[in-house]
Amino acid sequence: MAAGSEEMGVIKDFFNPKKKIEIKAMADNFYATDDCDGCGECYRRCPTGHIKMIDGRPDWGKPCLMCAQCGTVCPKGAIRFGRRPAPES
Ligand code: SF4
Ligand code: SF4
Repeated sequence: MAAGSEEMGVIKDFFNPKKKIEIKAMADNFYATDDCDGCGECYRRCPTGHIKMIDGRPDWGKPCLMCAQCGTVCPKGAIRFGRRPAPES
């Protein structure tokens, strides 16, 4: 199946050194909430294979295509992107 123009744009950006820095920085912003049950579906479905399971929880590495597949497949809706909330004291 031919990739759509939007998908091709993401792939081109991935190989653009300037964009790659931006994409790497964004990948660091993924995290799983306490709703994560450690099923590993995000780990299995990531097309770049860079999600590791550490102590039963996903850990996002690099590179990331920002395809959103991990967030889509999570059965618990536990994947968030952005600033992590501060731990409760
Ligand atoms: S957005 Fe895509 S490439 Fe990035 S961690 Fe999720 S599944 Fe993997
Ligand atoms: S798919 Fe969701 S529930 Fe399963 S390990 Fe990943 S973040 Fe956790």
